[in-house]
Amino acid sequence: MMSEGLSTRCVHAGEIVDAHGSPHTPIYNTTTFKFSSTAALLDVVDGRKPGSLYTRYGLNPTIQSLEAKLASLEGADMAWAFCSGMAAEAALFFAHGREGIVCLGDAYGGTLELLSSQIALFNVRTHLLLGDQLDLAESYLRDGCELVFLETPTNPTLEIFDIAAIAAMCHRHGARLAVDNTFASPVNQNPLALGADFVVHSCTKYIGGHSDLTAGVLMGATELLAPVWNWRKNLGTTIAPEIATMLARSIRTLPVRVRQQNATAQAAAEAMARHPNIARVLYPGLPGFAGHALAKEQMSGFGAMLTIEVKGCGDDATRIADRLKLFALAPSLGGVESLVTQPCTTTHHGLPSEERARRGISDAMLRLSIGLEDADDLLADLDQALG
Ligand code: PLP
Repeated sequence: MMSEGLSTRCVHAGEIVDAHGSPHTPIYNTTTFKFSSTAALLDVVDGRKPGSLYTRYGLNPTIQSLEAKLASLEGADMAWAFCSGMAAEAALFFAHGREGIVCLGDAYGGTLELLSSQIALFNVRTHLLLGDQLDLAESYLRDGCELVFLETPTNPTLEIFDIAAIAAMCHRHGARLAVDNTFASPVNQNPLALGADFVVHSCTKYIGGHSDLTAGVLMGATELLAPVWNWRKNLGTTIAPEIATMLARSIRTLPVRVRQQNATAQAAAEAMARHPNIARVLYPGLPGFAGHALAKEQMSGFGAMLTIEVKGCGDDATRIADRLKLFALAPSLGGVESLVTQPCTTTHHGLPSEERARRGISDAMLRLSIGLEDADDLLADLDQALG
């Protein structure tokens, strides 16, 4: 399937053709499956034959069909689908992080909290580093840490990490690299092809794309995903068939959605860069942006997340966010509707202001998730709000 183009894979990969001629996989909203004999049941339980068994195990045709489609998006051997992005991350950390985890650069607040407040309770070393602390990261790998986790582009400063170089560093020390590819989506970036060992997505964002489902996925090589299976099974964090079927439907339109969102985001970033009331625009598609050259090398599109810094203080940014009409004030991303968040009041509210400053996150920043509305309408909304 990987030899076919991305759009073809999005439509056809993993689909089950049933006896009735359904053009796509039907939903099997059943929790269990019956067998003709105990011998046939044991063949599936003991792994001698593939088959459906129990939905929490992921052995359900709707879930397995979705997983084949997800794996094809990133060129992965395998994908395990979860009930959320956080569930996918937790299973990864338990299965592959017990010798120590380095989180490089800014990551989703929930990820930072999971690592520092929960995973650390199990006597797992967790190191949360800034993006420029690569040397320190390498020293932790030398000390035996086994997993590096990063997002690229990051939230909300859109920092770009060199996936191939960091994967090589991990492999020199016998460690593995996991990339949270949520911001880019599989349309714009494929970390496994660049040398990463795992890809994680919050499918709640671009892959779901309509702000109407919560799901996650972990992908990688068969032998690396095998130890994760029991964690998902026994933590009970498998995706539900009803959500799996919705997610598969979303994937069939993923490339057209994301490419349109890329184009509108580029137009918005360029307009914002010219606006007299904007101090700074952080967007990988702008030639003046620090990570632009690297993004151009390792991404096939620059994504639809951008951060603007307004001229003025945090209260000015709050007033502008409150004046936006088409952009909804909501702390998520990746849907068809455009969203705005002020990181200091939402995603990074929990951090002390000195820590936000250390991470380059100012109170005057607004993060925009560009949706599928007409670019002219979005720009008009930004214009009226900026005054
Ligand atoms: N990774 C990133 C980059 C996110 O933005 C989020 C959620 O906002 C997550 C992971 C967690 O995903 P979920 O909400 O599906 O658990």
